[in-house]
Amino acid sequence: MRQLPFLFMLIFMLACSRQPEGNIITVNGIIPPQALGKTLEHEHILVDFSGAENYHPENYNRQEAFNRILPELEKLKHHGVQSFIACTPQFVGRDVVLLKNLADATGLNILTNTGFYGAQNNKFIPKHVFDMPAEAIAAFYIAEFEQGIEASGVRPGFIKTAVDRKPLSNFHVKLVRAAAIAHKATGLTIMSHTGPALPAFQQLKILSAEGVAPEAFIWTHASDEEDWTKLVTAAQMGAWISLDKYGWDEEFLKGEVLGYLKKQGVLDKVLISHDAGWYDPNQPGKTIQPYTPIFETLIPNLKANDFTAADIDQLLIHNPAKAFTVTKRLISQSN
Ligand SMILES: [Zn+2]
Repeated sequence: MRQLPFLFMLIFMLACSRQPEGNIITVNGIIPPQALGKTLEHEHILVDFSGAENYHPENYNRQEAFNRILPELEKLKHHGVQSFIACTPQFVGRDVVLLKNLADATGLNILTNTGFYGAQNNKFIPKHVFDMPAEAIAAFYIAEFEQGIEASGVRPGFIKTAVDRKPLSNFHVKLVRAAAIAHKATGLTIMSHTGPALPAFQQLKILSAEGVAPEAFIWTHASDEEDWTKLVTAAQMGAWISLDKYGWDEEFLKGEVLGYLKKQGVLDKVLISHDAGWYDPNQPGKTIQPYTPIFETLIPNLKANDFTAADIDQLLIHNPAKAFTVTKRLISQSN
């Protein structure tokens, strides 16, 4: 029995030694990438569209939100889902206590984020942020990464930012630079609500100027770009392509874009999700959009079109594990 204290000490040391680098940060702590499993990479638990100036999180009932979302998450277990990336940023309804309660109740790994959401003409940006330099905005993200979010102890697993669906404004250029600076300090992946190709490639250029590789960037809502060749170009550069409207679009569920991307040989850069869910504090009775059409409709369609089980695992398991692993992805100085 003399080894027992030693054994406990060893386990304790191993637990403490788990660093973010090379791993994934969930609301319940750090896990290795291979523990992520089947993952939905872009979903929402709660979204409050009030805007930063009218944002009052104390005005909603967290227990009611929990009760409404829990059964929707439970349904995911029947489909073998182990992980859920919660993409609502701060001032849009990020509630890490709610996320943690749901992770504890379901056993799902849930990831949350740090970052400011500039889309919808900066409606969700608090006034004091506009005049902050990119370095100060980045310092805020880095502080959440190092110290946790709002004294909860919960750390962000990625950076979420957002730009409008047009050429980048000066402020949005600054948001992207802030994300790049924070990436270089933390290794957190940058998920950017983007849409069309034009602002996507503008962002990749800013990242490159900052020395951040395309592999650190998720082109979110790439599914809204109609010229599929642009998706291939970005994927070949190394960026992650997020097809994330499977919760909303019957036509899209046929899987044609995925068929095209498979033919182009870039399935290893593609992420899929529903962008669904959410409890809306301003419309608490509103139906929760389900997180399941990928399993009920898309996958059967893909299988009927020569997609193998390995292809599906690539999309739902291997790609998310790689995309959300914390690691600095920099452009080598020798280039
Ligand atoms: Zn979303």
